[in-house]
Amino acid sequence: MSALFLHDAYLSTAEALVTGIREDGGILMDQTCFYATSGGQPGDTGFFERENGDKIVIAGTVTGNTKAEIIHIPAPGQATPEIGEKLVLHIDWDRRYRLMRMHTACHLLSVVCPYPITGASVNEEDSRVDFDMSETIDKAEVTAKLMELVNANHPISTEWISEADLDANPGLVKSKNVRPPRGQGDIRLVCIGEGSSVDSQPCGGTHVGETAEVGEIHIGKIEKKGKENRRFRIRFGPAPE
Ligand SMILES: [Zn+2]
Repeated sequence: MSALFLHDAYLSTAEALVTGIREDGGILMDQTCFYATSGGQPGDTGFFERENGDKIVIAGTVTGNTKAEIIHIPAPGQATPEIGEKLVLHIDWDRRYRLMRMHTACHLLSVVCPYPITGASVNEEDSRVDFDMSETIDKAEVTAKLMELVNANHPISTEWISEADLDANPGLVKSKNVRPPRGQGDIRLVCIGEGSSVDSQPCGGTHVGETAEVGEIHIGKIEKKGKENRRFRIRFGPAPE
């Protein structure tokens, strides 16, 4: 299984061969542009197009026993493709692009708020990021700093490093509870700014190519979740008056 989205987040369609059908109906392909739920970002939805034009609607995408196993979950009542059948995969691009913008916004928030991250969830309308911090922060100030990073239109690129390189630079990992997977070869770094001038951290999600694509966002709410935990909500659009 080749995870095409790791190398090109903008690939909205791809041709692929069916390599397996699970007992639960999940479809396995030799390669896929469908992102599988991981790291707080939900998996892709969309459809598979058969040679005769018929559609198989895909309701979700998840990982199996390893991150390398990607399972496409058909919606109820869909036809089952044959092993070896060639399909054209189409992701719901509008939804994915919003998720890419939101996911990238979470990275920018971790730059503005440089505290350990204890949890994150990316959604189409809003996202939340939990930080291990006890300080009180003004949300308008955070929004202004976020928009500065968006408007500066920093490029976003990826770089692959070895586990040994990561061990030599433990400061790269911002997430307190989630560690990059081990024993599966190289780790992908997501770099923001020329020469990672803004940020770099290990991440397997999908991101936009430059920060201006995130568009206008604001911090909707900062909730206190315990003495040392703050939950930030990022929303699209301008902050309400
Ligand atoms: Zn990411």
